Amino acid sequence: MDLAFSKEEISFREEVRAFFRDNVPPDTRRKLQEGRHLSKDEMVTWWRILNRKGWGVSHWPKEYGGTGWTSVQHYIFNEELQMHPAPAPLAFGVSMVGPVIYTFGNETQKKQYLPRIANVDDWWCQGFSEPGSGSDLASLKTKAERKGDKYIVNGQKTWTTLAQHADMIFCLVRTDPTVKKQEGISFLLIDMKSPGITVRPIVTIDGGAEVNEVFFDDVKVPVENRIGEEGKGWDYAKFLLGNERTGIARVGVSKQRVRRLKELAALELGHGRPMIEDRRFREKIAAVEIELKALEMTQLRVVSAEREAGRSKKPDPASSILKLKGSELQQAISELLMEVVGPYAMPYQPESEGRNEPPIGPDYAGPLAPTYFNWRKISIYGGSNEIQKNIISKAILGL
Ligand SMILES: Cc1cc2nc3c(=O)[nH]c(=O)nc-3n(C[C@H](O)[C@H](O)[C@H](O)COP(=O)(O)OP(=O)(O)OC[C@H]3O[C@@H](n4cnc5c(N)ncnc54)[C@H](O)[C@@H]3O)c2cc1C
Repeated sequence: MDLAFSKEEISFREEVRAFFRDNVPPDTRRKLQEGRHLSKDEMVTWWRILNRKGWGVSHWPKEYGGTGWTSVQHYIFNEELQMHPAPAPLAFGVSMVGPVIYTFGNETQKKQYLPRIANVDDWWCQGFSEPGSGSDLASLKTKAERKGDKYIVNGQKTWTTLAQHADMIFCLVRTDPTVKKQEGISFLLIDMKSPGITVRPIVTIDGGAEVNEVFFDDVKVPVENRIGEEGKGWDYAKFLLGNERTGIARVGVSKQRVRRLKELAALELGHGRPMIEDRRFREKIAAVEIELKALEMTQLRVVSAEREAGRSKKPDPASSILKLKGSELQQAISELLMEVVGPYAMPYQPESEGRNEPPIGPDYAGPLAPTYFNWRKISIYGGSNEIQKNIISKAILGL
């Protein structure tokens, strides 16, 4: 196993870093550094810059606009993006439904949706989870009854991230309640402007409005909006969920947050001297840095195995270790950030666009307490940490 970067890979890193330095709008970068929410416009503006460069859908096959990069190049790209920091491409379109469409969709669907995903002409959201069907996703109840050339959809999705911005939602629906639960599910692409759809915000503990409930009340969906075969939606969903391999540990995000932690610890005083000079606090920083290094090495091992096996290899169950440790570390770092600024961690961040300017001057640390609370989500979404532990014990430890 070779964990060292080649000369070409090092110069690729420099190219990516220079592109981010010269092209990420400074306000976007600053807001991300401070842990503040971005508006829809700010995100779309940046993603279109990335798409014009040809890097918007970097991991797609070349014929649909991908780059043909190796898994190491993808790793480098993600790490630089997270460390800059810059917003990652909208996962729901680029990493989730896009690959489902080019793998299982028909030619009309490919032509209709893929270029619009790449340029974020359509904002997609993910309609999988339902009340009572999260970890046990296959028990979902939203039903789609076929009437002629339409499905009539009734039911409810929940935790739908950024559905308030969405033009389209991809949904798992039950088309046959009489067969084994995994076999009665189909995969539909639904226009969010369809009559009968209601989006209701769930306000999170930090005052944010990033998740929603989505209700379907006799929503008519053309049969041509179904992906692949009726009753095969579970297979497409498994493909989608296993597809996101790179960047799952968010090592770059943690590195950027540790950098911020050290900057703030050099400014903030504890017992009359900068926190960074306090030996016990330094030990805490060192402990997370050591864990982060170990996580980075594990991630490089996964990437290196992919480099040897080629990208067609099935998702590595070690991705669950990356998700588990990555989320624990991000949460630990956000706790240290709170500790370093004490009561200044508290400023509240209103969510609505146009109202989220920082309340204080250039040393504003960002809404660290709201971020700390918001980041409890990292160990829940995309498969909770308990579920990741189940996968590790079965697929890696063979228990
Ligand atoms: C911020 C955020 C954004 C999200 N965005 C989306 C989105 O855009 N689209 C979407 O479809 N979903 C989304 N989700 C939903 C997410 O996928 C689910 O929350 C997640 O799968 C857990 O399901 P649940 O919330 O129903 O909890 P449950 O499945 O009810 O779990 C409750 C608790 O029981 C534990 N548990 C459950 N089963 C087991 C088991 N077999 N063994 C051990 N422990 C178990 C869980 O770990 C958890 O601690 C989002 C969630 C969050 C928090």
